[in-house]
Amino acid sequence: MERRIRAGILGATGTVGQRLIALLEHHPQFSVTALAASDRSEGKRYADACAWRLPGEMPTNVRSLVVAAPHPPLDCEIVLSSLPSDVAGPIELEFARAGYAVISNSASHRMDDDVPLLLPEANPEHLALLGGTGKNGGPGFIVTNPNCSTIMIALTLAPLAARFGVQAVVATTLQAVSGAGYPGVASLDITDNVLPFIPSEEEKIARETRKILGRWNGSRIEPAPFPVSAQCHRVNVTDGHVAALRVKLGRSAAPGELAEAFASYRGLPQELGLFSAPKQPIVVRAEPDRPQPRLDRDAGGGMSVTVGRIADDDVLGHRYVALSHNTIRGAAGAAILNAELLIARGYIPADRRRS
Ligand code: NAP
Repeated sequence: MERRIRAGILGATGTVGQRLIALLEHHPQFSVTALAASDRSEGKRYADACAWRLPGEMPTNVRSLVVAAPHPPLDCEIVLSSLPSDVAGPIELEFARAGYAVISNSASHRMDDDVPLLLPEANPEHLALLGGTGKNGGPGFIVTNPNCSTIMIALTLAPLAARFGVQAVVATTLQAVSGAGYPGVASLDITDNVLPFIPSEEEKIARETRKILGRWNGSRIEPAPFPVSAQCHRVNVTDGHVAALRVKLGRSAAPGELAEAFASYRGLPQELGLFSAPKQPIVVRAEPDRPQPRLDRDAGGGMSVTVGRIADDDVLGHRYVALSHNTIRGAAGAAILNAELLIARGYIPADRRRS
């Protein structure tokens, strides 16, 4: 059997950290050997530091690991980071400089020129940024995954851009409370309510979508040339972000052509048969009242994006509604898929791993 790569998790007690631990429990390529969080948790056994908030029991393999401070050295070869973005930047840099592959959920380095903002189906060629100069030139490096709403927007735009061209995008999101971490939004603010403000989210969706769908020109990523406008809302749903999208395409297409482009879309993770890759990255629902968070967030084990309500639009030409699981495809599952692609592409070979 192939040796498992030893993974450390930064932010291990949080919403995304717990998802990472759950998704890695039976993973064939990784075993979790190090956990780190804030000084509130440091020095405690994970079982004592962490209030487990996912269904089922806390995995036994992590219960007695002692939570460390998020600084190298840690007893692992790669780190999966789910630190808050106000602290992640310098800590992730510290790990990269110490020779670790850092696979991050945090926003801190997503827009750095030398850091891939990786969505494996859409832009695996952006991994060419690794091995250049700067912080990603050494044995250690940082690879990021997109913001939890950006992922479903960029993933569904990718087949449209390839087949029809994309000229403009307007997105309105309805985002679950788990997207704000734990304890997140106060219950008295979100019950019986919709909050029309999520700090920095609208800007992240616009700039990250253009970077993800941008072109690697041999020396840098040229952002996709189309404008992206987003409005974001927090809604009283536990898991599962929704985005209502209007899109201006390079050529007009019937709703059935969009449905076919979504449903037939496949990428490198499917071609390589990566462990966390959904067989169908985009699931199309024909019912008029889908997608819905409760019914569709677990499609493809939480790794598929579900699309419905595909129709012509009087303003921009085309519209649809997308939904994805924000802590799986939108966070932990995305980071793990990135790690699997890095192994498959030889960026985490034996001689680069710390032992
Ligand atoms: P969270 O539930 O608030 O968890 C934060 C984690 O970071 C906890 O383990 C916490 O440890 C640790 N932490 C907090 N302050 C720290 C510090 N100063 N130094 C070291 N560790 C610290 O947040 P989350 O929702 O998991 O989000 C984590 C990251 O993922 C964020 O950057 C977020 O933007 C990103 N993200 C989240 C989602 C989502 O759907 N939730 C989706 C995509 C990306 P203690 O328990 O010890 O305090």
